[in-house]
Amino acid sequence: MVNKVNNKRRQIISGLGALAAASTLPGRLAAQSDANDTDVLIIGGGIAGSSTAFHLAEQGRNVILVERGEIASEASGQNMGGLGGNGWGNNPNLLSYITAGSVEIFKRMQLDLGYDMEFRLSGTLTAIHTEEQYEYYQDQVARLHTGGYEGELLSPREARAIEPEANSDLLGFMFSKERGQADPVKSTRAFAHAAELAGASINTGQNVIGITPLSSRGYAVRTESAEFRCQTLVLASGAWCDPLGRMLGLYIPIVPIRGQMWATESVPARVFHTIGSAESSYFWSKDNGADASTPPNLTHKSNQRRIRHLYGRQRWNGEIIFGGDRESLGYNKTPNPEGIEVNRGHAAEVIPLVASLPIKRTWAGLMPFSTDGSPIIGRISLRENLYIVSGLSSSGFGRGPMAGKLLADFIHTGHRAHVLAEANPDRCVMEA
Ligand SMILES: Cc1cc2nc3c(=O)[nH]c(=O)nc-3n(C[C@H](O)[C@H](O)[C@H](O)COP(=O)(O)OP(=O)(O)OC[C@H]3O[C@@H](n4cnc5c(N)ncnc54)[C@H](O)[C@@H]3O)c2cc1C
Repeated sequence: MVNKVNNKRRQIISGLGALAAASTLPGRLAAQSDANDTDVLIIGGGIAGSSTAFHLAEQGRNVILVERGEIASEASGQNMGGLGGNGWGNNPNLLSYITAGSVEIFKRMQLDLGYDMEFRLSGTLTAIHTEEQYEYYQDQVARLHTGGYEGELLSPREARAIEPEANSDLLGFMFSKERGQADPVKSTRAFAHAAELAGASINTGQNVIGITPLSSRGYAVRTESAEFRCQTLVLASGAWCDPLGRMLGLYIPIVPIRGQMWATESVPARVFHTIGSAESSYFWSKDNGADASTPPNLTHKSNQRRIRHLYGRQRWNGEIIFGGDRESLGYNKTPNPEGIEVNRGHAAEVIPLVASLPIKRTWAGLMPFSTDGSPIIGRISLRENLYIVSGLSSSGFGRGPMAGKLLADFIHTGHRAHVLAEANPDRCVMEA
């Protein structure tokens, strides 16, 4: 479906090669104004903001993106690089759109536009450790098939035929063939680059410190070194949406959740899928731990571990990387060695090889969790011409491309895709 649309757009932009062809772009796409005045200004150069910028600029809109660090300097550059989902299903909902739709956009960027994003539709193997988890996954697979989604239970032997390092002592694996992986930094920068080629102005090193509504409609956005003016403002600032909302007198219920990861030295190719564990999803299906201020599906609550969570893969540079913890600690981005060791033990239960590989480096980043756990994508009707694309929580790398496209299409056409109803910001954004 997305591909049909893309055939037309491919005539406008053709990836890296389009740099040379930029002069052939229609005037309003190629034109790059020096002025800091624009039609749409996007705050945040993560995957959500960069995709929004690309899809708006591609439709001929005048776009400025401001980012206080570099493109992909926060969660979008620090994540595991896993792409989720189980296909479109018979009756695609928001989750189908932002997962399967994003996979289509990853394909377009890598295969059609020529960006090297290390994208691969590798599939995911999720390890099943107990009888209870096995029964839960049997139900899940039946539910997926009823809805027209993909998913299959494999015996350890079947799993080891496609992932030789998988632990043969486990009860089984869930195989999700529609899932994939890509390099976070390369991918996010590809979107920003494509946006620039389509005429957007990408401004890094611009920390937004003030936003003022203009009497003439639109906003003045002040950074430490410049002032920009726009008709339409988009908040794509990840875990920092609430501080930016405060500049507009709004409360945006997005909290920073620390995710942390570790990597081995580079080794020859040994792990071929993205890897997960059923332990957390089974546990959260019984009690997701949410309350008024705590988002669902965290590994910790009140500084206590509730459950282990696991995701990982082998990068193209040979590093095997794993992570999983999700903890609410404010804007703290320092990795916790104890949590890393727990995660490493969990990883070794699934891929025993990693027990013998020393940890080379660790890192952490902040995921933008909405307090109700659902994405926040659309118009904030408490203010004029104000939009947001965030709340993509622990899965925003794999969901950000389509989330950005859905928002771009909404802004450009004025028509909100029906699936965005459940992401409506008005359900939760309030006057501060
Ligand atoms: C360790 C870890 C592992 C993860 N693993 C996965 C995974 O495997 N798969 C997956 O799909 N997702 C994963 N995620 C989640 C995913 O990374 C996020 O959901 C996603 O990157 C959010 O993208 P974003 O563009 O909304 O936010 P960000 O990438 O955080 O971008 C927001 C940008 O806004 C900028 N900004 C903030 N305030 C200002 C300001 N005042 N002025 C200017 N700029 C500002 C920031 O500098 C930042 O660059 C993981 C996250 C972490 C931390």
